[in-house]
Amino acid sequence: MILPALAEAESPFWRPVKYSLFPPLGLATLAAYLSPSDEIDLQDQHVETLRLDDTPDLVIIQVYITNAYRAYRIADLYRSRGAYVLLGGLHVTSLPEEAMMHADSIFLGPAEDTFPQFLDDFKHHRPRKIYRSAVRTLVGAPPVRRDLIKRERYLVPNSLVVTRGCPHHCHFCYKDAFFEGGKSFYTQKVDDALAEIERLPGRHLYFLDDHLLGNPNFATALFDGMKGMKRVFQAAATVSSILDGDVINKAAEAGLRSVFVGFETFSPENLRQSNKKQNLERDYVKAVQRLHDLGIMINGSFVFGLDNDDRDVFRRTVDWGVQNGITTSTYHLLTPYPGTPLYRSMEQQGRILTKNWDMYDTRHIVYRTQNLTQEELQRGYDWAYREFYSWKNIFHSSFVHPSFSRKIQHLLYTGGWKKFEPLWNMLIKAHRLNRMLPVLESILETNSRG
Ligand code: SF4
Repeated sequence: MILPALAEAESPFWRPVKYSLFPPLGLATLAAYLSPSDEIDLQDQHVETLRLDDTPDLVIIQVYITNAYRAYRIADLYRSRGAYVLLGGLHVTSLPEEAMMHADSIFLGPAEDTFPQFLDDFKHHRPRKIYRSAVRTLVGAPPVRRDLIKRERYLVPNSLVVTRGCPHHCHFCYKDAFFEGGKSFYTQKVDDALAEIERLPGRHLYFLDDHLLGNPNFATALFDGMKGMKRVFQAAATVSSILDGDVINKAAEAGLRSVFVGFETFSPENLRQSNKKQNLERDYVKAVQRLHDLGIMINGSFVFGLDNDDRDVFRRTVDWGVQNGITTSTYHLLTPYPGTPLYRSMEQQGRILTKNWDMYDTRHIVYRTQNLTQEELQRGYDWAYREFYSWKNIFHSSFVHPSFSRKIQHLLYTGGWKKFEPLWNMLIKAHRLNRMLPVLESILETNSRG
């Protein structure tokens, strides 16, 4: 089982630590369907050098858009050696014809129903070329094969996913393309999710769910069950799920200490263009205040390059983040991923500039811009990152928080994440990254003590 490195992970401009956060959970999830007697080797090129000199019966490769070419080269190599090669993942589902040329079988959509079916077909020497997911359920899914994960190489090995998909339909998001042909949002049984949490060692958890609060009933039951487990965790949620009801309070009581929030844009026109209805007319500042009152840090996500953006969008976005004490900001250049409504509309308008998938990393401009020139957009994006993470602004945003401990927490989290690259690189090289987990836990915990 191979997760090839994303093209950007090897660029000198990118930060190795960003690619050593989470283990390849999708492959470890599929491995659970294999027999305990099968010999499995799970390799993640982000944290190890791939060993490709073996002769396995079966090779399973997870394909994202920016590792697609690399994945295809590895697939071709193993096929030339006689191995049976499976390709699956977001990019394969978006562009099956392209992937098919490099695989014996491809998987479209989530593979919880189709992978066991394939294994049976493979055993009986009648595997199909295409497996398209139709039955969407996590009921009865076996426990993730975490024994295959090299925990010491990841900063947060306790990543988990207890739901699939998201109830919303933003036009730039891959989600609908991946889940086409069936349910696009479903959850584990609460007891199964709690059992998975119990199996994880230590205290820290990172939920990689697109929207952990997407089903309020499920989320409420999950957080009620987690109360008293003494966990600290990080997750993602939408602005509306933070403002509505009291699920976010329950999350905080259960140990939520940091949340990824898709603010994306302040412009109602941009939100409409993106079909991000759930953010329309929602008070972002109120959402931020509510999170801060609950002791939850914020990783804000913002998109630049939507059609209504002007030259001031970069300064407005950075200033807003600093003035509101946003802990970390993730900026993206708008990227029309194949298979999404955004891609279709850009293609219809003749605005797609390149189909070199390596460029689709949210850091390169791959479409013809509208209000801004390409240079303005690229320069503004680079400036926003530099400016938000300048020491001046890190101090400024830390001091927005009322209490001393919260100020220090913000300073340590943001400074530690962005300003200590040589330390991160040294730990990665020594395969000791996981040693920093207690430090992360302790910083997250400052909130509950402050
Ligand atoms: S809310 Fe997030 S995960 Fe859900 S559809 Fe929109 S971008 Fe995708």
